[in-house]
Amino acid sequence: MTQTSHPALAGQPHFHLQDGTLHAEGVALDRLVAEHGTPLYVYSRAALAEAYGRYSDAVNGRDVVVCYGMKANSNLAVLKEFARLGAGFDIVSGGELQRVLAVGADPAKIVFSGVGKQAWEMQTALKAGVKSFNVESEAELRLLSLVAEAEGKRAPVSLRVNPDVDAQTHPYISTGLKENKFGIAIEDAPEVYRLAKSLANIDIVGVDCHIGSQLIDISPYLDALDKLLDLVDGLKRDGIEIHHLDIGGGLGIRYTDETPPSPKTLLDQVFDRLDARGYGHLQIVMEPGRSLVGNAGILLTTVQFLKHAEARNFAIVDAAMNDLLRPALYQAWHGVVPVKPRLGAVQIYDIVGPICESGDWLAKQRPLVLAQGDVLAVESAGAYGMVMAGNYNSRVRPAEIMVDGEQSHVVRKRETLEMLTAGESVLPD
Ligand SMILES: *Cc1c(COP(=O)(O)O)cnc(C)c1O
Repeated sequence: MTQTSHPALAGQPHFHLQDGTLHAEGVALDRLVAEHGTPLYVYSRAALAEAYGRYSDAVNGRDVVVCYGMKANSNLAVLKEFARLGAGFDIVSGGELQRVLAVGADPAKIVFSGVGKQAWEMQTALKAGVKSFNVESEAELRLLSLVAEAEGKRAPVSLRVNPDVDAQTHPYISTGLKENKFGIAIEDAPEVYRLAKSLANIDIVGVDCHIGSQLIDISPYLDALDKLLDLVDGLKRDGIEIHHLDIGGGLGIRYTDETPPSPKTLLDQVFDRLDARGYGHLQIVMEPGRSLVGNAGILLTTVQFLKHAEARNFAIVDAAMNDLLRPALYQAWHGVVPVKPRLGAVQIYDIVGPICESGDWLAKQRPLVLAQGDVLAVESAGAYGMVMAGNYNSRVRPAEIMVDGEQSHVVRKRETLEMLTAGESVLPD
């Protein structure tokens, strides 16, 4: 039996088979591996631009700010690409702020999310002049007011409200339910808005929510939007006017056979609801992460050994949970295809890493034709891949490559063994 052919990867048209070898745009991946080794993250610049284009094309003349949820992939080359395309950014830390400022992002298009902002982070964001602090608690609001006062500034604020809707996604990436740590319960929001209004150094600019990730249905968004607009109705009665409505990120991508809605489908329905309720003038802010980068990247890994045990066949590869955590953390499914598909007998493999943990697997029960030394592509690894990489088992983090047509660029070097211990020291004798 022969390997199923894959003219292009499931959700990744910029990664396709050509002359028997998987390519990223115009670059053969075996050539990249020969030059840079594995494990290796490879991104497609064209795929980033196309994903962003799906948002910008959906704007339809309305006032919409697309703030890339940069925690999905914070490589400077990725950030620079989105900054060039005109994106804003959704940041969750002072470190992320430093990264976006380093690529020349416009601070007026930066929103600052996160449940645990520290005073120094608030201070640097105030100095930079961010668009909005998405505030998640009364305590945070009070601290922000004090920090703003000390800085002699006014802090623009949206409250992140928790609309208590079920995003019907994995529990670890569902954030809009009452039991989650995120946001302010929507029934408490009017009171916290009144508090915000009373604080001297706070300017109320918006209402924010983010209900989860890898959403493949529009209805949770619309349910949340209706609840947000009810809140806005009430705020108006309290004399509080807002300028923008931030509907968060969370749009899903195709890992296997999912059919997530397009940004246009989502936005068209959002615009309809806004118009129907007399809020067509409100600016819309979005915070997409995964849907801008997930299918713009893959992870390449080499088969180190094949092991045929009684119950299972294992392909032990040189990438592991420290390089791509999603399977271990969320039992996430990533497609796996050979870079050079070969003819032969298909066997069912678990693709596992070398780390001393049973949770260290990348894929399970996959029909593949494999030999030792083959290079595999782990699909849809552009989001929550490299950003979650670590050094467990004293493994160096992979290199990252950005392909641009026929060209490829190293956008992050592979770590070295020296770097692993660089900050450490032993006690004196
Ligand atoms: C993670 C996150 C995003 C991005 O989510 P995606 O599912 O990657 O689109 C947006 N906003 C906030 C507040 C987040 O925490």
